[in-house]
Amino acid sequence: MRLCRFDENRLGLVLGNEVADVSAALELLPQVRWPAPPGDLLIANLGKIRSRVGAIAGTAPRKRLDQIKLESPVANPSKIIAAPVNYMKHVEEARADAGINFGTDIKTIDHYGLFLKSNTSLIGPGEAVRLPALERRMDHEIELALVIGREGYRIPEARALDHVAGYAVSLDMVVRGTEDRSWRKSYDTFSVVGPWLTTADEVKDPNNLDFRIKVNGETKQESNTKYLIFGLAKLISYASQAYRLYPGDIIMTGTPEGVGPVAPGDIMDCWIDRVGEMKVAVTLAR
Ligand code: MN
Repeated sequence: MRLCRFDENRLGLVLGNEVADVSAALELLPQVRWPAPPGDLLIANLGKIRSRVGAIAGTAPRKRLDQIKLESPVANPSKIIAAPVNYMKHVEEARADAGINFGTDIKTIDHYGLFLKSNTSLIGPGEAVRLPALERRMDHEIELALVIGREGYRIPEARALDHVAGYAVSLDMVVRGTEDRSWRKSYDTFSVVGPWLTTADEVKDPNNLDFRIKVNGETKQESNTKYLIFGLAKLISYASQAYRLYPGDIIMTGTPEGVGPVAPGDIMDCWIDRVGEMKVAVTLAR
């Protein structure tokens, strides 16, 4: 199932080039009071929601995909977790390019651990990435994102994939420089997730997915998730050694070689096999 959020919090079921507006299924979500429980209510109730979506999709009104504005399929993650230098060829390019490493040693994911991105940096593909007005290099990083479906702490690797609700395409945008990653990668709009949530049952082997990003039609990054240094199960298990994971938590799994700068006016076309394709515009923040 491919579930999207669109046009100011409507719920959609993606069917080819169309979206069935299945927002009526949202009435199943519990009414919460302060303090809201951690995590995303839709993802926490995904089983029930999926059943209702299946029941009402046939008679739901439809729109063409190119006529809606896609938002992040997860509205309220408790956290956005990301993996640094998780593809060997990206480690190598980062070591070789002073524009990426800024004179610092590039070590390994074992050395750095994971990092967090601000929740307020999250957008969907229908919104543009807005670059801050800085005289600095700002790069695209395409990454497979996974969305946690089930709470867990110290999750063993052997059961880690059972905690995945689904997958999405993501962009981990970054200002290159010497500051902490969480600062440089947390500007508003710097975490793009979309075009929808592709549920885990649609992706038989998430550790073997081709993906690529084109900028203005030119291929910049092209790889396969089989080249991840920490594969998906290890990333989930590793993250959960530090933080309890909640439904809706997003893990950006890392980017391969080919990162490069973007500028206002650029269009980033991001595709991951089985998961989806999204076009994201770049503008200047005002
Ligand atoms: Mn990244």
